[in-house]
Amino acid sequence: MEDLYRKLPSVDEILREEKINEVLKFNKREVVKNCIREVLERYREKIRRGEVKKIDIEKILEDVVSQIEEKKKMSLRRVVNGTGIILHTNLGRALFPPQVKEHLLDIAFCYSTLEYDVEKGERGSRYSHVEKLLCELLDVEAALVVNNNAAAVLLALNTLAKGKEVIVSRGQLIEIGGSFRIPDVMLQSGAILKEVGTTNKTYDFDYINAITENTALLLKVHTSNYRIVGFTHDIATEELVQIGRKYDIPTMEDLGSGVMVDLREYGLPHEPTVQEVVKAGVDIVTFSGDKLLGGPQAGIIVGKKKYIDLMKKNPLTRALRVDKLCLVSLECVLRIYRDYNPVEAIPTLKMLTAKPSQLYEKAAILNKLVLTIPKVKSKVVEITSLSGGGSLPEESLPSYGITLEVEGFDTEDLERRLRIRDIPIITRIVDGVVTIDVRTLLEGDEEVILHALEEITGVCQ
Ligand SMILES: *Cc1c(COP(=O)(O)O)cnc(C)c1O
Repeated sequence: MEDLYRKLPSVDEILREEKINEVLKFNKREVVKNCIREVLERYREKIRRGEVKKIDIEKILEDVVSQIEEKKKMSLRRVVNGTGIILHTNLGRALFPPQVKEHLLDIAFCYSTLEYDVEKGERGSRYSHVEKLLCELLDVEAALVVNNNAAAVLLALNTLAKGKEVIVSRGQLIEIGGSFRIPDVMLQSGAILKEVGTTNKTYDFDYINAITENTALLLKVHTSNYRIVGFTHDIATEELVQIGRKYDIPTMEDLGSGVMVDLREYGLPHEPTVQEVVKAGVDIVTFSGDKLLGGPQAGIIVGKKKYIDLMKKNPLTRALRVDKLCLVSLECVLRIYRDYNPVEAIPTLKMLTAKPSQLYEKAAILNKLVLTIPKVKSKVVEITSLSGGGSLPEESLPSYGITLEVEGFDTEDLERRLRIRDIPIITRIVDGVVTIDVRTLLEGDEEVILHALEEITGVCQ
């Protein structure tokens, strides 16, 4: 063992090797040095465990080179989403429509009209690019866009109800992933939460009885990721608006997903649209940009001008402001809603409304492809996808996928091997078998999957 330690080359010796000299032409010396140290440390550890029988300098050099390659790999990078969860928060939620690409590049690499009014030749507002479109699309007086919907709720509460009471039904005190909890957001905003009703039943008189001089807002929260079923009662948005008007208290609805097309037309269950809620007369509506809307991460606030003007003046708005890449992609997405059929042009909606027959065909093609690889077993299976992102809770969408089995690998092993790649392939284990739902596969993903399986099975290295 001592002998093996002594035979390990030093960092300087490795740095003098021809192979490493080549690498040094394209990499910082410090990075290379660190990689050498890491590789040597790994060898010492292996020697300690008795896993090294002799020192092979060529192998060490190879390890150093691959360590450098590994370091260069982007941490934030694309993956293949084989889970069938369309709005997968961990995998980046909504995908931009392709039309966004050229505008995104323009704005990222060139100066822009971000806060410049070209007509007047003077300072403009960054929000103007999307506010008019939102007003036109949703028939509202004003709009404001912030970092995400959590920020939108925080800003609205802080502006309209700081130090005052906000009435919410106990059935709507939601927590969504990533620790967004209505009571906590309320606390942060400085508003005082006044819970009314019970978990399963809240009536109009519950709200009415809770109103005092200190009531600043009546809030309705869309129960995004769960549904209360059975012996239940909740008041309709229209009723809440009536109470608000009668007692002269503004109303707000946190819609969460904020869909702008009626999904019933596509055989999906009803998800209240932003337009419906606006039409019901709610003063302030907030929703996400990257859920069913299918755009960038953003929190969109629409409604009455007098309230939105107050929010625009709130110093918090500056802290929650969106960047130009968000704004340009949101503008582009909103234009698609205005000028084209969003269900065909917005990837999220396209995946959501994909017909089972299309999905079957996609699965059959993929199945045929992977079956050309020796040692791979696969078949087309019926499966259910989820819309995800807290939209359409519990609603499972009938879909198709393929199962994957590879000789010599158990399920967990295969799932991991597909996952730990340059382009990770994220699958689901269904009934103990690795399964890929084709609903969320993009053009070109088939080749990525094929190539991965070829490497895993050793068809190609
Ligand atoms: C998703 C969601 C939020 C948070 O939206 P983000 O854009 O993720 O910040 C808030 N409220 C409801 C009801 C939601 O569904």
